[in-house]
Amino acid sequence: AKHGGKSHYLYYDPAMDAAGVERLQLETDLRKAVEGGQLQFHYQPQVDTRSGTVVGVEALLRWQHPERGLIPPDLFVPLAEELGLIPEIGNWGLQQACRDLAGLHREGFALPKVAVNVSALQFGPEFGEQVKRALEDSGLPPRALSLEVTEGIAMDNSELTLHTLDELQSQGVRLSIDDFGTGYSSLSYLSRFPLDELKIDRSFVTGVESSEQQASLVSAIIAMGRSLQLELVAEGVETAEQYHYLTRNGARVIQGYLFSKPVVVDELKALLGRGHFA
Ligand code: C2E
Ligand code: CA
Ligand code: CA
Ligand code: CA
Repeated sequence: AKHGGKSHYLYYDPAMDAAGVERLQLETDLRKAVEGGQLQFHYQPQVDTRSGTVVGVEALLRWQHPERGLIPPDLFVPLAEELGLIPEIGNWGLQQACRDLAGLHREGFALPKVAVNVSALQFGPEFGEQVKRALEDSGLPPRALSLEVTEGIAMDNSELTLHTLDELQSQGVRLSIDDFGTGYSSLSYLSRFPLDELKIDRSFVTGVESSEQQASLVSAIIAMGRSLQLELVAEGVETAEQYHYLTRNGARVIQGYLFSKPVVVDELKALLGRGHFA
């Protein structure tokens, strides 16, 4: 029932309504999920292609919904950001990831580090303290934690953010730039930031074997990462061709379905127990 102009807002739109109800339900559910322990991490190995060993895992958020099953982060992280739930979820995530890695260490698994994704909205004044507390509570050394920050954070030039990142890095926490090249950040922003690692985004890795343009883009990113003396991790690697292109061009650490999808802790143990990759 749309007659042009603004008048259609006055009409009853069953489709809009259903979406509205659905969203409201998801909101209510998400608030409950955070308190009710329905959020969990799946961990995806990062393999050093020279040694063939797992040098880290990335913690990837999942929502185990009682009726809808496993919900991937793209479907609820943006909603969580809108609802202001990110600080709470983020703090839970830091605690959980550190606890899980410390547990693996106690069981004798030699896994050097865990990478946790950090939303730009998490960067309040408490963030530095939350990281320190997660490390202290779990007993992990700072170098066992890597924080994956996005360009959104790099774009935020605030002194607080810079200071927090500087301080964390000087304590030994590793800082990784995620999704680089997919947003609007520039090299000059990037060079101001304390960084240890650059992740080559899946959107660049995809098609590297079939498109010359993608391939030269990736080698440019690798060259830039090297000149900034950053470690390089290529994500979303699915094929042997991609693997070979990346390693030939100097990306040593590979993350992707080629080795493993993100898995629950028990599966991760089985995987680590298997020994060498690559
Ligand atoms: P991201 O940080 O860029 O994570 C990489 C995504 O690529 C993950 O999707 C991962 O499962 C997927 N991936 C890895 N290897 C492959 C591959 O070989 N093929 C394909 N097709 N996909 C691959 P996922 O787990 O769905 O996460 C999506 C995004 O959600 C993440 O992108 C990140 O931005 C966000 N996210 C995940 N966990 C968290 C979290 O704990 N906190 C925050 N703030 N965001 C998170
Ligand atoms: Ca990430
Ligand atoms: Ca990415
Ligand atoms: Ca992303």
